[in-house]
Amino acid sequence: MTLENGTLMPLRQYLKQTNIIFEDSSHGFATTDFITHSALLTIYPKDSRELNQVVVKLNEFKQPFHVVSAGHNWGYGDSNLSDQIPILVHLRLLNRILDYNSELGTVEIEPGVTQEQLARFLLNNNSQWSLDVTGADGLASIVGNFLERGFGHTAGGDHERASKVVEVMTVEGRVFCPQLVSSGSSHVKGLYQHDVSLNLDRIFYQTNFAIVTRMVVQLKPKQSQSSFCIVFLETDQDVANAVAVVSRLKAQDVIAAIPHIGNSGRLQKTTSSSVDARMNWVAAIDISGPSDLVRARKKILSQHFSSYQKMFLSTTRVNWIGRLINWLPAKSLYKNQFENLRLLNQLLSGTPTNDFVINSIGKDSKAPKKMNWIGPLFPSQPGHFLKVKNIVSQIFTEYGLVYSATVSVVSSRCAVMITEITDSQNIGISEQVLQECYRQCHERLWEVGYPIYRYGLRSGVVLENQMKQNPEYLKVYQSLKKHFDSNDLLSRGRWGVRILPE
Ligand SMILES: Cc1cc2nc3c(=O)[nH]c(=O)nc-3n(C[C@H](O)[C@H](O)[C@H](O)COP(=O)(O)OP(=O)(O)OC[C@H]3O[C@@H](n4cnc5c(N)ncnc54)[C@H](O)[C@@H]3O)c2cc1C
Repeated sequence: MTLENGTLMPLRQYLKQTNIIFEDSSHGFATTDFITHSALLTIYPKDSRELNQVVVKLNEFKQPFHVVSAGHNWGYGDSNLSDQIPILVHLRLLNRILDYNSELGTVEIEPGVTQEQLARFLLNNNSQWSLDVTGADGLASIVGNFLERGFGHTAGGDHERASKVVEVMTVEGRVFCPQLVSSGSSHVKGLYQHDVSLNLDRIFYQTNFAIVTRMVVQLKPKQSQSSFCIVFLETDQDVANAVAVVSRLKAQDVIAAIPHIGNSGRLQKTTSSSVDARMNWVAAIDISGPSDLVRARKKILSQHFSSYQKMFLSTTRVNWIGRLINWLPAKSLYKNQFENLRLLNQLLSGTPTNDFVINSIGKDSKAPKKMNWIGPLFPSQPGHFLKVKNIVSQIFTEYGLVYSATVSVVSSRCAVMITEITDSQNIGISEQVLQECYRQCHERLWEVGYPIYRYGLRSGVVLENQMKQNPEYLKVYQSLKKHFDSNDLLSRGRWGVRILPE
């Protein structure tokens, strides 16, 4: 940390005088990140007025800071800071659901609203709409995930697409709506995907140019039939083919969801039960919808995956199996496999669960497992998956790491392979070595044309080269940053570049 604790004294005094909640350090926030940079000061504004006071003061004192909505960004830096940033502004208390349109299926929310809170709100309102929840825990925020271009598993899985930023606050304290069609007394606030003229709200995703204080989220209709398909894939070539088939079915509007294909190593990490060793790769495809559509989807998927073992399941069927399975002995293999299906069904039905995160990073929040995700994008043509997988698994072998991954078909033309960099066998691989492995994968993948889709605050610095290789892009990026945050305080260095001094 470059800053002395004492330099923060005037800021602490100000916070005390104004009764704004803060704590020295970041108690209780242990990190999954490889290199720990705890906050010297964590500030919890209660509302946007206090947030405004805080940022204006930080700007006056020229103190670099980072903002999280809930800080549950596991594997992408969570609440961890960097050597350039000593202060964390935590928005978990700004957690109002400001508006709910039950006819159009939208909510307008503040940053601290969590997956669990919104899912409960919809349930209590007997809503016909549901949230596309992620595998993160119930206390993860919606705004943080959506701003990072997170994705889920259902038809509402593309989170940037399902949301509009309708209010931001700059570090200088200016508050405005970054969309003309959503401004003022507009009847279509957060409803129209684009804008007239410049669609400015898009520039607040994965940039940290300003603090997002309000977002409109478009919910997905609760389906009359909640169903999904499980396909068992044996070889890597099967996975490559399945990615191509599924993306073509997405292009044809047969599949609306984001299918996930996990290998046995990855599946084992998200469950406390033993995964059947015969399951090399398992694809999960949400096919929910009106019953006629579900029937048609089943038929088409059966044709395309005719030579593979597969199962079609619905919520009713999962509940029914659940009752039967209770009769089996506790250690029965079927009972274990059923637990995975139950969690998947819960996720697809819009109810968050903490189990994936607990099984993945451990129960002890004070000492979570050290891990970072690396997520290369690749075209959904057979061949590319094999190349990406070979690059990563070769580097993993050099570093003594075990390859475990999920492949998500995020669009009709593109997929992402999310791999976990961690010492899963507990053989004493140091955090420095894990960090080095991350860098190697990052450099090699970009070099051969497979960019990474997402970074944490600290891991993002490795993007410096890519930024510099496109000088015109960098110039625009720096001018925008300068416009919103002239002292370069918010999440400084996040993408490996600083704005140019005057
Ligand atoms: C087992 C497991 C499963 C997971 N499954 C998924 C999954 O299915 N899909 C997925 O996408 N991720 C997944 N994750 C990763 C991660 O945990 C989630 O993405 C999580 O939702 C992010 O945490 P958060 O919402 O609390 O974000 P935060 O930590 O609050 O925010 C993330 C980042 O967004 C920016 N930010 C946040 N709020 C603001 C704001 N108001 N203004 C400006 N910038 C802001 C900051 O840069 C911040 O660091 C998973 C992780 C694990 C361990």
